Amino acid sequence: MKIVLATSNKGKIEEFKKLLPNEEIIPFKNLIGEYEVVEDGDTFKANAVKKAKEIYEKIGDKNIVVISDDSGISVPALNDEPGIYSARYAGVDADDKKNNAKLISNLKKKNIKKTKAYYTACIAIVFKNEVYTVHGWMHGNVIDKEIGDKGFGYDPMFIPDSFDKTLGELPHEIKKEFSHRSKALNLAKKVLDIIL
Ligand code: IMP
Repeated sequence: MKIVLATSNKGKIEEFKKLLPNEEIIPFKNLIGEYEVVEDGDTFKANAVKKAKEIYEKIGDKNIVVISDDSGISVPALNDEPGIYSARYAGVDADDKKNNAKLISNLKKKNIKKTKAYYTACIAIVFKNEVYTVHGWMHGNVIDKEIGDKGFGYDPMFIPDSFDKTLGELPHEIKKEFSHRSKALNLAKKVLDIIL
């Protein structure tokens, strides 16, 4: 079975390939070339569904499976920011460094050194014109500084529950055990086992 991924992110493509070793995983670009989906939904689910549906419709083959994911980190003490804006928190030319600097600055403005936070991942699957979604979460705390250089994005600021180190310090194998994306991917796999 061919599974098309509605993402150009190499890290995400590799994660999906590892989780679905028996399926043929194809980045959408290989089929339809460059195409940008505007992520203007107001939830992770809305954005994940939009990405998967737009790519599915653009490919135009109803028997193809398209999978997308949308993820980010939410800090309740900052009104759940950055949330769905995680990738572009610092603006249009945002990168991990700039996004983390903005989060640190917003924590410092409120004199917060450490506060609860959680990652969310939503995966959307489209097959035979039906849409399926699953979620995964990882809870912990964010701190007002970066420690460690492992992982990506907000990982150097995030201490998962039950640990005293950031994801920037912990080996990837540990994160993989309980990350929001791993949890969502495992549920997505169950959905695929049923519908394919
Ligand atoms: P997406 O590619 O639109 O889903 O954006 C995800 C953004 O959320 C990334 O650019 C990161 O800033 C953040 N994010 C999501 N998952 C993680 C993670 O596992 N570690 C660190 N940052 C993450």
